[in-house]
Amino acid sequence: MSTQTLTAKHFSRFGEFIASFELSKRGWNVYSPMYDEYFDLIIHKVVCKKCGKQWNPTPALVCSKCGSEISTTNKTRIIAYKICRDCNHKNRGNVAKCKKCGSKNLFNRPTCYKQGCNGIVNLKPHKCDCGSRSYKSKFRTIQVKSSRIEYKGNKCKNTYAVDMKPKDLLENLTHFYIWICIDQDNNDKIYPLVLSVKDFKQTMGNALGGISFLKDQNRQHFSKDFAKKGHRWGKFLNNFQILE
Ligand SMILES: [Zn+2]
Ligand SMILES: [Zn+2]
Ligand SMILES: [Zn+2]
Repeated sequence: MSTQTLTAKHFSRFGEFIASFELSKRGWNVYSPMYDEYFDLIIHKVVCKKCGKQWNPTPALVCSKCGSEISTTNKTRIIAYKICRDCNHKNRGNVAKCKKCGSKNLFNRPTCYKQGCNGIVNLKPHKCDCGSRSYKSKFRTIQVKSSRIEYKGNKCKNTYAVDMKPKDLLENLTHFYIWICIDQDNNDKIYPLVLSVKDFKQTMGNALGGISFLKDQNRQHFSKDFAKKGHRWGKFLNNFQILE
């Protein structure tokens, strides 16, 4: 089984999935538009406002008395008390009514398990290693182009190709291209190129004003050997960092 057997339409969708996996590996949440208009993916990430490190949206469990942070593995040790509003009796465990007076008027008191502490355990918003308590959201829009190695008849051309159109050149600092190049002859090995609109324009140079480009007939062909000296697009291989 190889991507070679996929139809062009399915292969294009496959490329979007691959791009999504690569992005989620790098901490991005990936969203797909309701219908195919212009963007293929919208991606989102929450990061520390100060140092840019990925933000952990899970709040920590902290004892309000001794200050200990309760780790995921120790969560189960939190003592579940149900306090009776009528007689103040501390019922241990998940009871429906007070063991002392029978009242059903109880409230939860998650309690620190440390010897003699008895503090209440609260949720505390995540704090970054850098000390910052504030975060920000980043959004990017992505256009995915997918290519398999090109063949002419039975002859391998050892090239990939993507179609670019003037309408793809949205002038927006948060818009990027991901070109998913797949070597179907080598276990579908994936070579993702990540570039901004500016990168594309700069690399294209004068060719952008060329007739074929203006006529929507531009097809970028490039060698599958990305490390080859002078490779036009090779420097964008695995360039996911620019999305940050
Ligand atoms: Zn930070
Ligand atoms: Zn405590
Ligand atoms: Zn009671």
